[in-house]
Amino acid sequence: MQNSSTNNNYIGRFAPSPTGPLHFGSLVAAVGSYLEAKTNHGKWLLRVEDIDPPREVKGATKNIISTLEQFGFEWDEHITYQSRRYEIYQEYIDQLLHRSLAYSCGCSRKEIAKTATRSANGLIYPGTCRIGLGNKEPRSVRLLTENIDINFHDLVQGVIIQNLETESGDYVIKRADGLYAYNLAVVIDDQLSGITDIVRGHDLLACTCQHIYLQRVLHFDTPRYAHLPIAINKSGQKLSKQNLAKEIDTHNKAQALFNALTFLNQNPDKQLLESDLDSIWNWSIENWNIGAIKGVKEKPAIDP
Ligand code: GLU
Repeated sequence: MQNSSTNNNYIGRFAPSPTGPLHFGSLVAAVGSYLEAKTNHGKWLLRVEDIDPPREVKGATKNIISTLEQFGFEWDEHITYQSRRYEIYQEYIDQLLHRSLAYSCGCSRKEIAKTATRSANGLIYPGTCRIGLGNKEPRSVRLLTENIDINFHDLVQGVIIQNLETESGDYVIKRADGLYAYNLAVVIDDQLSGITDIVRGHDLLACTCQHIYLQRVLHFDTPRYAHLPIAINKSGQKLSKQNLAKEIDTHNKAQALFNALTFLNQNPDKQLLESDLDSIWNWSIENWNIGAIKGVKEKPAIDP
């Protein structure tokens, strides 16, 4: 299909968690990241974020990959599976502990809830274990943050500023159940895959400053970011597996792709629906304009 020469100046990715099949919201993230990579003659990588077995749904990885294939997505290189990379994550945890940039925390959720302040992003850990565990058993590992503002320019959402101390606090990079946190793995994998551009859902905007802080601590590059609007259901909730978002209908892929483009303000011509999936892809690559989405945070899903 859309074969043109690719370059390494742009490497994008799509990073689904196998917590259920692809729904309209995840299709939008896949389409947006794909088209942005293609129109920049870049690569587009696929990474399965299967680091949270308790939330994983059996068969979801296979299902997601098969749906992407049926839609005609073509990824470069091998698929990365986070579940095969625990040793790498542990090396970075060890490095951060060794450099005193992270510390073991023995607080339970209940203890934290008693003393923590709250920000729009959730509870702010009060830093109790910064000075040591006392007689507590180590549970999680937290990254030591500073009272600084992190800011970046998001291609869709504009300038974002977050104070790490008041809006994030020392956050978990290895969980009390021994699993590696998304906030750690995503930063390591994006760096090791050479990702230059991250296009994903607006729900992840709130943790992006945490990612940038960790990139700086580890002397990693900071990619460019673009956060697309998230799709919400009739009750105003983000489509997710938890609220039983419908699986994308692969019987009518042209319509689903058309809907994703409409959702992303690309204004596709209705006549496109009379042509095949390949023609819609070709139209998308010729006409894609991420600028048309400027500032939109959420929109109702177009999910017939
Ligand atoms: N795995 C995340 C999700 O499915 C996306 C992570 C990312 O794009 O950084 O919501």
